[in-house]
Amino acid sequence: DNGNEDANFSKPKTTFKDVAGLEEVKEELVELVDFIKNPDKYKKMGAKIPKGVLFHGPPGTGKTLLAASVAGETNSAFFNTTGSEFVEKYVGVGAKRVRTLFEKARKEAPSIIFIDEIDAIGAKRHLESNNEKDQTLNQLLVEMDGFNKDTNVIIIGATNRLDLLDEALLRPGRFDRHIYIGNPNYYTRCEILKVHTNDKPLDDSVNLEELAKKTHGLSGAHLSNIANEAAIIAVRESKNVINQDHFNQAIERILAGLESKNSKLI
Ligand code: ATP
Repeated sequence: DNGNEDANFSKPKTTFKDVAGLEEVKEELVELVDFIKNPDKYKKMGAKIPKGVLFHGPPGTGKTLLAASVAGETNSAFFNTTGSEFVEKYVGVGAKRVRTLFEKARKEAPSIIFIDEIDAIGAKRHLESNNEKDQTLNQLLVEMDGFNKDTNVIIIGATNRLDLLDEALLRPGRFDRHIYIGNPNYYTRCEILKVHTNDKPLDDSVNLEELAKKTHGLSGAHLSNIANEAAIIAVRESKNVINQDHFNQAIERILAGLESKNSKLI
C-alpha cells in the first residue's frame, strides 16, 4: 500500500430530486451547479469559481447524498472519499494518495471530489511538526491552491466538527463556502419519509405526517432506517402491507437503540 493505486470514481445518476426537503440547501447548491456547468460565463465576468464547499452538521443528514447529487446534476465524475482513507502509518503515503486523487480528478473533469469526515486529515496542525497527517493536509492545501484556473474540479468536504479544522483550510480560495446541514425539520422529515416509503406497499392506516411529528430530532439516516425496520416487522408478521403500527414499533426500536447508545456514553 504505497499510495500509487488509482483513484476510483463514478458517474452518479442521483439528482436534487432524490434529496428530500432541504430546500434552502438545494437553492445554495443550484448556484454551484451553474458554476460547474457554465464556467465561461463567470470567467468572462472576472468572477472566481469556488473550489471548495464545506458541509457541516450532525451525521446522517444527507451530506453524501447532496454531494452525489451535485455530481449527478452536472454529469461530473464523483470521487467519493473519506478523510481516514488518507491517514496512513507510513510518512508520505497519504500525501501521495491526495496527489493521485487530484491528478485523476483533473483528467476526468468536470469532477467533484467529496471528502467525508475531512477532520480526519483537516484537524489543526501542530507547530513544528511534520508527521504523516500534517503532510497529508499540506498536500491537500497545495492541490487546492495549485488548481489551474481552467480545471473544473470542485471539492466538497463534510464534517461533524467544523471547530476542529485547521484555519488554513477555511481561507479564501479553499473551503470558503460553508453550508450547515442540520437534522431535518418537520417538512423535510415528511419528505424523507415519502422518499423512503415510495417503493413499499403501505396500508391505508399509514399517516406519514403523524410519523414525522413523532420523529423530531432524528436524522434522515434514522428515518430511512425506520422505513426499513417497519418493512421487516411487516414481513415478520406475515403481512402484505406495512401498517402504522409497524412504523410505530420501528420508531420505538430506533429510539431505544439511541437511548442505550447515550447511556453507554455517560
Ligand atoms: P455522515 O455524516 O454520517 O457521513 P451524511 O450526512 O453524509 O452522513 P448520508 O450518507 O448522505 O448522510 O445519508 C444517510 C442516509 O440517510 C442516506 O443514504 C439516505 O438514505 C438518508 N437521507 C438523509 N437525508 C436525506 C434526504 N434529505 N433525503 C433522502 N434521504 C436522506
